[in-house]
Formats: sequence, C-alpha cells, structure tokens
Amino acid sequence: PSVPDVEALQHQDVARTLPAPAAESDKYRRGVLGVVAGSERYPGAAVLAVAGALRGGAGAVRYVGHAREAVIAAHPETLVHAGPPGKAGRVQAWVVGPGLGEGPGARVAVAEVLASDVPVLVDADGLRALDPDAVRERAAPTLLTPHAGEAAALLGTDRAAVEAGRLAAVRALAARYSATVLLKGSTTLVCGPGGSGPVRVNPTGTPWLATAGSGDVLSGLAGSLLAAGLGAVDAASCAAYLHGLAARRAAAGTGPITATEVADALRGAWQDVREP
Ligand code: AMP
Ligand code: MG
Repeated sequence: PSVPDVEALQHQDVARTLPAPAAESDKYRRGVLGVVAGSERYPGAAVLAVAGALRGGAGAVRYVGHAREAVIAAHPETLVHAGPPGKAGRVQAWVVGPGLGEGPGARVAVAEVLASDVPVLVDADGLRALDPDAVRERAAPTLLTPHAGEAAALLGTDRAAVEAGRLAAVRALAARYSATVLLKGSTTLVCGPGGSGPVRVNPTGTPWLATAGSGDVLSGLAGSLLAAGLGAVDAASCAAYLHGLAARRAAAGTGPITATEVADALRGAWQDVREP
C-alpha cells in the first residue's frame, strides 16, 4: 500500500499520545526541560517559552540565558542558571532559540545543546545559528520549528516559494537536516526525519495565533512533551494541536488574544483533549 501524502491529526490520536502523570511519578520522571532563550533585548521570548513549557507537563523547567530576572518574576517555579547549558544540570530535552538574538553567543549555545545526547528543539534565532552537519550527526532526535521565513532561509529560497509549496518545503527540510520539522503558518505541517513519510496536518489552528510570541509558547510546549518522552513527530503534532485549541479557547467571545493568554489557556486545552 502506498504511503498517504498527508494525514489530518485526529483528536483521539492526540488524546492517546499525551502523557498522563502516573501515580508513582515524581518531577524528574515527568521530565526536566532545559530552555535556552531570551536576551537582554528580547527577554519576553524567554518568558513565553517557559510559559509554554510549564503548561506542557514537564516536571521542571531549567532556564539558561540572560533573561533570568524576567523569567523568575513571571514564573517563580523555574530553575534559573547563569552558566552555559552544559553546566545547568541534567535535562531530558532542550529548547534553544526564541529571542536569543544574532550574536556569537547564540551560535555557541546552539552548538553546545546540539552536542548533547537528548532531544533538542531549535526555533527562531536558533535556526539562524544552525550547522546542518551538527544536526545530521546527532544520535538523539532534533525538531526544527520554522515559520515560512525561517524555512526559506534554511532552504536558501524566498518566503513566497515556501508559501507556494509548503508540503514540498517541509519535506525538503526534513530530508536536508535528517530532522523532524514543524512548519508553522496558516496550516501547521509536521514531517518526520528524511521527509518521505506522511506529513501530519494540524486542524486546530486559528489566524488569531498570528500574534507576537505565540511561536515561543509553542516551542516551550513541544519541548516539554519531548522531555516527557514523546517522539519528535508526536511531540510536535500534539503541541500544535493543543496550541491551536488553546488559542481558540482564549479567543472565544473575545477576538484578539495575546501569546500570554494562549499559554494560560493550555490548561483548558489539555482538558478538551481528555474529553471525548
Ligand atoms: P511565530 O511565527 O514563531 O511567531 O509563530 C506563530 C504561530 O502562529 C505559529 O504557531 C503559527 O503556526 C501560528 N500562525 C501564524 N499565522 C497563522 C494563521 N494565519 N493561521 C493559523 N495559525 C497561524
Ligand atoms: Mg517565532
């Protein structure tokens, strides 16, 4: 039988895949996520990525970067670290990139995290600092989460070309990097490493998500699911599904929403998924 080209993500699949805390869980078994994000210029991206991570079910979130004061003020439950990622203590997955800026520090942080033996999600400024060989050589899964502009830069093409052929673009990136790719935008597509399998399409999105910082919430959320032990394709697709549901919840009866409100609505989105 031939492999279907695309498949819509189903509610029941997400419900079955999302981790539920077992009676004997402790915070370490639920997964510890490391988040390398933010900068003096963009502290908010770190705050929002941590918000998504905390609502993604990880047992604990370690934050590494230059927005420690802002992160702690918004989320006192975060473990903050001043040193490089490698000195932050054990994590089960990393998110690197939101608001990191374009300095040499971003490149060093991305390289260090990619050299680890745990799953890594790379987003935003982290994608600009990406060495394709360092990704291809990894033994653990890598998840890239570009929007169309970031995808175009990775492919050496322009944004219009990506928008005109989103399916081809997500496959090309997954093949070029041997990584799982989540391509954001009006439809969110997820493709596993190699690019030849079916592409999952998320049905829950809403254009209200096109608001500053919502992508940062998504990367924290997907990273949290990686830390909990989901595979990269499942983590990416479940995160996109929950993120869309949360945005719809937040926007219901209100109109425009903020990324902070999307993160807050993730609790209700989990509840929506648990109900048939
Ligand atoms: P970013 O571009 O990193 O800020 O992420 C934006 C988020 O909003 C991603 O989750 C996108 O998939 C989502 N998004 C952007 N535009 C749309 C749209 N027109 N319809 C649905 N979702 C969108
Ligand atoms: Mg973004």
